[in-house]
Amino acid sequence: MQNATITDKLREECGVFGAFGKEASLAELAYYGVFSLQHRGQESAGIAVSDGSSIASFKGQGLISDVFTKEVIMDLTRSNDKVAVAHTRYSTAGAKGIINAQPLVAQYLNGGIALAHNGNLVNAKKIRRDLEKEGYLFQTDSDTECILNILAKNKYRGHVSALGEVVRLAEGAYSLAMIYDGKLIGLRDPAGIRPLCIGKKNDTWIIASESCALTTVGAELVRDVEPGELIVIDESGLSSYILSDRRQDGGLCIFEYIYFARPDTTINNKSVYLQRHKMGQQLAKEAPVEADIVTPVPDSGRSAAVGYSQAANIPFTEGLIKNRYVARTFITPEQSEREIKVRLKLSPIPEVFKDKRVVLVDDSIVRGTTIKSLINIIKEAGAKEVHVRISSPPYVSPCYYGIDTPDADNLAAALYTPEEIMENIDADSLHYLSLDGLLKSVGGEKTDYCNACFTKNYFAGRIKNE
Ligand code: AMP
Repeated sequence: MQNATITDKLREECGVFGAFGKEASLAELAYYGVFSLQHRGQESAGIAVSDGSSIASFKGQGLISDVFTKEVIMDLTRSNDKVAVAHTRYSTAGAKGIINAQPLVAQYLNGGIALAHNGNLVNAKKIRRDLEKEGYLFQTDSDTECILNILAKNKYRGHVSALGEVVRLAEGAYSLAMIYDGKLIGLRDPAGIRPLCIGKKNDTWIIASESCALTTVGAELVRDVEPGELIVIDESGLSSYILSDRRQDGGLCIFEYIYFARPDTTINNKSVYLQRHKMGQQLAKEAPVEADIVTPVPDSGRSAAVGYSQAANIPFTEGLIKNRYVARTFITPEQSEREIKVRLKLSPIPEVFKDKRVVLVDDSIVRGTTIKSLINIIKEAGAKEVHVRISSPPYVSPCYYGIDTPDADNLAAALYTPEEIMENIDADSLHYLSLDGLLKSVGGEKTDYCNACFTKNYFAGRIKNE
């Protein structure tokens, strides 16, 4: 995954936030908003503000708390500003990270643009090649710059029509928050693969990847941006344009409900926490086991473990303590480093596990490293048996639409059967939630979601490398 460019895999995890209104400090509001989206990306962050004529921005690598000091936020606080966007991103390691940090800011004939994008375009290379042939310049590796140049190319059209061109040309996943000619723009791809919602705080309009960011800044959730919908917010309020019919063959990434979104977020009027709770209940029905305690993998398995425990009538017991000062282990490149990081991050309470039959619940197995180390740790702490229950189906195929996952040759379920994985991780039993059980929990049909990571059905196109 290091130094990935659009010529190979470009998989990013991101959060976007935007605000339009008269706040004492829009930069500060954006800072708090994007802070609540930190779980969507931990490698770089940026904020851009505009008074309608000029854009000021600051970007850096690291966590939001590292990038934005009080001084930076004060520098970005200008009394005339009316619109802001912010972004947090998991990017590839190395020097390219800062170049690709967002919002991407550009000046063109009609004024300034600051663009924050969550999701991946799967035809970015083709769009880029076509634009380069016409003389357009690119400064980053990022698929997001394609959107910027499509807008530049269509500068003589109005903003609605120019954004219509984006929808016509771009394939894949995009939830955008953008400053465009002094307006705040929100745009979601026609399948609505990544979430995007609208909120309001007094007279200030907000757009955010997740509703948890609205709660943090004291805003009310108004509604989700619809798939294929363009939102334009300016002094006259909010205008909505349907730029494309909703795609019927796929939709929201189901992994947002399983793992990615924060449990206190609501997507499509459904609480993420409650969906995970239902997945746990369903899992208990599908894969019961005689045990003494149900323990979550913190924090990813917690909501499902509560559901499992209630449905199975086995006590929910916290047995693994998280060191909250360690960043997510998943992103560490070296296998050996990952194993030590699991131990750094999660530590057992021996008194909880001694002589117990444990149901260990997590949301997913990706490489299998985390669960294997945890079983080892729990058995060392005295557990008699460890039964693993996973609140999603086997993760067999990489995501091309904005969640960072390894290649298939690093995905445990792509390589091995559940029985083989069970033996390899030294579990006493292993069960995954079925796809039908997952759909029953979240409600709806297969085609209401993108579930390519479980089914290999890449309805929005695989990455095209030509
Ligand atoms: P692994 O060791 O690769 O099997 O990691 C599985 C753990 O990583 C589970 O606890 C998941 O909650 C978590 N996880 C799943 N997908 C991702 C992702 N895209 N980014 C970071 N962590 C993830």
